Amino acid sequence: MTDLSDKIRTLKNVLRTEYLTSASSQPWVVGFSGGKDSTLLAHFVVEMIKSVAPDERTRPIVFLSNDTRVESPIFQSFVDQQLEMLRENLAALRLPVTVVQTQPASEESFWVKLLGKGYPAPSPNFRWCTNNLKIKPTVRFLRDQVAEHGGATLLLGIRRAESSQRAKTIARHEAAAPDSAGWLTPHTDVQGCNVFAPIKEFTTEEVWALLLQLRPPWGGSYRTLIRLYRDAHAGECPFVASQNDQASCGSSSARFGCWTCTVVRKDRALDALAEQEDGDDLERLSAFRVRIKQVSDDPDHRSPVRRNGQAGWGPFKLESRRLLLDELLSLQTDLGHSLITDEEVNLIRHQWRLDEAMDLRRELNGRTPSSLIPV
Ligand code: SF4
Repeated sequence: MTDLSDKIRTLKNVLRTEYLTSASSQPWVVGFSGGKDSTLLAHFVVEMIKSVAPDERTRPIVFLSNDTRVESPIFQSFVDQQLEMLRENLAALRLPVTVVQTQPASEESFWVKLLGKGYPAPSPNFRWCTNNLKIKPTVRFLRDQVAEHGGATLLLGIRRAESSQRAKTIARHEAAAPDSAGWLTPHTDVQGCNVFAPIKEFTTEEVWALLLQLRPPWGGSYRTLIRLYRDAHAGECPFVASQNDQASCGSSSARFGCWTCTVVRKDRALDALAEQEDGDDLERLSAFRVRIKQVSDDPDHRSPVRRNGQAGWGPFKLESRRLLLDELLSLQTDLGHSLITDEEVNLIRHQWRLDEAMDLRRELNGRTPSSLIPV
């Protein structure tokens, strides 16, 4: 069994070797969810770049964070603070590091899909959200990097010990690895991009042990992160960068993630945080999450026809989409902070007009009206 100091030595070596020996101008993109694993990875990446001589720092490093636009508010505000600290303090150290935040396109946002197009609440059997909210924005960014620099490496804080599913995914990637040590594996959705998982051998206990001992090289401390996990009894909903990573998002363990997530039966992280101080707003969000699920599971709110024209549970009826949007806007007014943008509301209303026009055409043609535009 490799002890922790050996693992740290290997981690430092592999980071430095890979940074210095691979194609010199191709960027490193470090997936940063703000959770414990990606934070530990960010820690060692920054330590490494600080230890490299300035004239050898030829590869740009990008910390990439994806905001789904429906993130759990307490965790998102913590992540935003971390990103701001990274931005400011690493610039002051004159390191070749930038911080980028991606978001889903407005047309693909949670609310436009759910309330505009009438997609049902995400579920384990129809988890349309991960691809639209997480994978597509990341893949778009990576493709741009590859186009600009001729290649890129995506660093992820994934670990074998996270779950048996994760261990299998890592093993499958290693089998296809172009380098003999299995450190770099081709990204399944982005040609020209490799995935690098330098902390894959660390256990969860080791991650916590290190975060408890270390201080961030960009300033501050890891105490807030540790407290958030403790208060929420949570794991994070991790950075998801390809279709192969979907299984780790919206799993049944308590996780930070979208506050709207109906893939989990109970959002234990949100509920646990709601029990802490200032919990009223979170309770209201949690109740709305349940409301989305209730409406979605009620046949009276769903079209009886699917998009393919067959009988079955189709999308939300138009009146149900209107109802939920009204409730969401009223919740937003009550809470006094943004839950949905004006642009999304306009896109939703535009989609309703298209659906109404289609219904009318169908009725004129003597076919089943489809307030029912199935998903
Ligand atoms: S946290 Fe839930 S709602 Fe958000 S992308 Fe993951 S599965 Fe979907």
